[in-house]
Amino acid sequence: MFDKILIANRGEIALRVIRACREMGIKSVAVHSTADSDAMHVRMADESICIGPPSAAQSYLSVPSIISACEITGAQAVHPGYGFLSENANFVQILEDHDITFIGPSSEHIRVMGDKITAKDTMKELGVPCVPGSDGGVPDLESALKIGEEFGYPVIIKATAGGGGKGMKVANSAEEMKSAFQTARAEGKANFGNDEVYIEKYLTTPRHIEVQVFGDGKGNAVHLAERDCSLQRRHQKVFEEAPGPSISAEERNRIGKICAEAVAKINYIGAGTIEFLYENGEFYFIEMNTRLQVEHPVTEGIFGVDLVREQIRVAEGLPMSFTQDDLEINGHAIEVRINAERLPNFAPCPGKITQYHAPGGLGVRMDSALYDGYSIPPYYDSLIAKLIVHGRDRPEAMARLKRALSELIVDGIDTTVPLFHALLEEEDIRSGNFNIHWLETWLENQFGPTS
Ligand code: ADP
Repeated sequence: MFDKILIANRGEIALRVIRACREMGIKSVAVHSTADSDAMHVRMADESICIGPPSAAQSYLSVPSIISACEITGAQAVHPGYGFLSENANFVQILEDHDITFIGPSSEHIRVMGDKITAKDTMKELGVPCVPGSDGGVPDLESALKIGEEFGYPVIIKATAGGGGKGMKVANSAEEMKSAFQTARAEGKANFGNDEVYIEKYLTTPRHIEVQVFGDGKGNAVHLAERDCSLQRRHQKVFEEAPGPSISAEERNRIGKICAEAVAKINYIGAGTIEFLYENGEFYFIEMNTRLQVEHPVTEGIFGVDLVREQIRVAEGLPMSFTQDDLEINGHAIEVRINAERLPNFAPCPGKITQYHAPGGLGVRMDSALYDGYSIPPYYDSLIAKLIVHGRDRPEAMARLKRALSELIVDGIDTTVPLFHALLEEEDIRSGNFNIHWLETWLENQFGPTS
């Protein structure tokens, strides 16, 4: 058993992991930058250690600082949360070399899935359906134009190292291909140091459906159904739910089984998410995330399991505490991401919280590191809270979300809360009738093209 786990993260996800550790009787170590000395995760952990200045590159992303923090505090394992070093294969390799357990998959699985081309090749081999497109990387414009012709426009050009919506460009015609191809390459190079790109058919009205998988690293794996994360702005999710309102039990079992079998075959360990676009009853793999997702609480809501606890268990070499047969969906869960951003342009809006009141009551979960008087530093992601509701069915969850949002008070800064009040009035949202473009179109209709 681990005695002590270091959490290489901050904000709500650091609290999430600290809470799981406490329930398991494991001591937690928080790391923080000098800008986060007053942060909630520092207050809540059993121990804390400063690892550098405000810039994430010199603190939360600094591998030597985090390894030193493990050595100084005697932590035997590291939980990376999401973002920062959670999908950094080199970091995991260095931990492995130092005999510190990484709570997550092997460096090899992270490396394979972190490169979108090798991820797609691997998934194809494992029998997972993929978006039609180029066979691997596309070296030059000439080949790109050929592929555009072969598959028909529109197509999407994607940086193999891309993430967070960066390094993707749509081309609607051969004319557009030239600049789209170059831009995707340049973005890949600038953001990820890799200009290799590949091309896929651009699906025009898909939903984003992702399957939660979990493996024990010994050839056993399960799926925990899907989440629908179609409501996105600039390829960033803002509203997520489980189960997917458009997915039938038969489809769920079919795609879930394919995903569980795929990760079992590669002896995958821990939590993973296999992301698909879903159109006309077909699933098309786009990428796999080898970590806990921001939106994991909706899955926890419908299955009543603690995914972080399971991550820690399998990292210790213990079996998962459930089998596929134990996993039964109970009701419906929705999460909204509350960001410190000012509408309509979603401009980051850090600052001091003058008043904070979290909603409560039956079926309401607030994952947040906010407190009264807290000053949100300007250096990090603008996600400040996740409001998750659970109901016996989707209408009950929607009503509960509306009620919980009305109780929430975050004063002193602007947040994306008004967006959710407005969305809940929309018939399409109430009925679950949306695809990945719905939100962008709606925002444009509300606020004009600048938003
Ligand atoms: P990232 O790693 O940057 O998140 P993904 O490959 O997961 O990139 O894609 C993010 C989003 O981009 C998807 O949820 C979807 O909205 C859009 N997208 C990606 N591939 C396609 C495609 N082939 N057709 C249409 N939309 C796509």
